[in-house]
Amino acid sequence: MKSAGGGSYRVYDPSMDEHKEERATLMGELRGALERGEFTLSYQPIVLSKTGKLHGFEALMRWRHPVHGPVPPNEFIALAEETGTIIALGEWGLFTACCFAASWPDRSLSVAVNISTVQIRHTDLVDLVSRALAVSKLEASRLELEITETAFLAANKETSATLQQLRELGVRLALDDFGTGYSSLSYLRELPIDKIKIDRSFIIDLPHKTSDVSIVKTIVELGRTLKMTTIAEGVETRAQLDCLRQIGCPELQGYLFGPPADEHSTLALIKQSDQR
Ligand code: C2E
Ligand code: CA
Ligand code: CA
Ligand code: CA
Repeated sequence: MKSAGGGSYRVYDPSMDEHKEERATLMGELRGALERGEFTLSYQPIVLSKTGKLHGFEALMRWRHPVHGPVPPNEFIALAEETGTIIALGEWGLFTACCFAASWPDRSLSVAVNISTVQIRHTDLVDLVSRALAVSKLEASRLELEITETAFLAANKETSATLQQLRELGVRLALDDFGTGYSSLSYLRELPIDKIKIDRSFIIDLPHKTSDVSIVKTIVELGRTLKMTTIAEGVETRAQLDCLRQIGCPELQGYLFGPPADEHSTLALIKQSDQR
């Protein structure tokens, strides 16, 4: 985050070392940051494409570092996974999101929480989710767990048993960043998935890129055949919206409908859409 400065050529790039050092420092700070309450959750609206009505929200983690300011989630989640802090952080996130969702005046809205592979492999996720539901008193049907496709790369019997048990609790499972992994189709066949979340990279060039239009169409159709719902993420423009509506993608998410926002703004949005 500091610039190397100077502008002169050097044989090796000292910013690499600096970056490494900074990573190491951030890594060491993660655990304390959780205890100091530096993490928050933002909530981004998910809407139904037919009616434009609110379906729910995805909880996205934020870390405001006291010196560096906001650290991008892609960065700190990866660090937290490497250090194992993701276990505590993920637990905090799940409990926080469930408690907040349980407080919403509209009890038809769902909350989606991202789950790391590390949590699937190294914690009793079924126990964790049961406890979060019990403590928050959130109905299981209102909780969605988003799991990235790459997380399944090492999909084994144990993983599918865990997912099956989670589903038996009544929560729903979404396959995140769909299309970016390697063996998406076999996951759809083998794992108990309720929702396919089409990666933003397939949405970004709609409606101009005809190959992407075909791909999105095909995924939505596949979902319908497999009795799974589909959602497009990263919808930013009216043209993308029109295209996705025409395709019949049931759920949409992106800056066009709203950016991730804090609890206060999220509650305001829920109350406002309740009155419509
Ligand atoms: P993701 O799960 O794919 O989340 C979607 C990302 O796209 C979010 O980035 C969101 O802010 C961003 N986004 C939403 N709408 C738009 C749009 O219209 N245009 C563009 N350009 N971007 C949009 P964010 O919040 O930076 O999170 C990045 C990633 O960090 C997430 O990707 C997820 O993989 C991870 N992450 C975030 N929160 C958590 C968490 O609580 N637990 C875990 N395990 N991972 C998390
Ligand atoms: Ca997600
Ligand atoms: Ca995603
Ligand atoms: Ca992602």
